[in-house]
Amino acid sequence: MVFRYNYVTSDIGHVQTKGRSRAKFNGKIFVIVNSDLQLQDRELKNIIRVEMMNKVVKSIADSTLVNQKAFDDRILMEQKNDQKERQREKDRARITKANKVEKSGVVLHCIKCFKESCCLDDIRSIRNQHHVVTSDLFLDKMKLIDLKKQPIIDGFTHQQKIHCGNCQHKWGTMVVYQQQELPLIAIKNFTLKDDKGKKWFPKAWKDVPFVISSIDMDDLGKQNNFSEAENPEGSQQEKGEIEEDDGLIEYPNIMQIEE
Ligand SMILES: [Zn+2]
Repeated sequence: MVFRYNYVTSDIGHVQTKGRSRAKFNGKIFVIVNSDLQLQDRELKNIIRVEMMNKVVKSIADSTLVNQKAFDDRILMEQKNDQKERQREKDRARITKANKVEKSGVVLHCIKCFKESCCLDDIRSIRNQHHVVTSDLFLDKMKLIDLKKQPIIDGFTHQQKIHCGNCQHKWGTMVVYQQQELPLIAIKNFTLKDDKGKKWFPKAWKDVPFVISSIDMDDLGKQNNFSEAENPEGSQQEKGEIEEDDGLIEYPNIMQIEE
């Protein structure tokens, strides 16, 4: 039996926990959540995702019975394409990184009113192209303005416009990436300043002379789930092996507690 208190990870974490709970006995998972953290919603979404995944796996298994050779060829092709794409990604990262230096303590200021917004250390890149802020402190510095439509651009759902909380100058867009809401910012709206007062005014991210880390699962887990750091299970497992789970999806033991 597994109890989780205010801890909801991804659908992968959900499957891993189920794997653990049924190891010897017919186990159950209990998720206990605060009413104000929207964790119940997230857990229910995880359950739906796991259910969808099981359906897809079954349909793939069925199609192998129909034509094994075509299925094997398709898998091989997908693997080769994936490998090429990862190699291209690595090459791009190496070329970009070659001209940049590691530096911490650089702060981003609003280009218009020079108010401090966030640290460069809190910025993560996605596919070496897009840049998001992973510190919750940034949320207090900005103002959100609703978009009439929420377009999906390059895999990101654009939710709201982000403006400077002080002077209203535009900063970027609130986007949804991997089911997480993240502030995506354009560097041309900011000035960089180091601890000695030296300033930079990059027009694009490629002009920023410092190394910016790529986003990983830990960064994504940090958002919207403050208990992550205290949890002994950590999100590390999500990078590791995935225990298979062939059990039925049960509508589950989610408890809400009011504060
Ligand atoms: Zn401003």
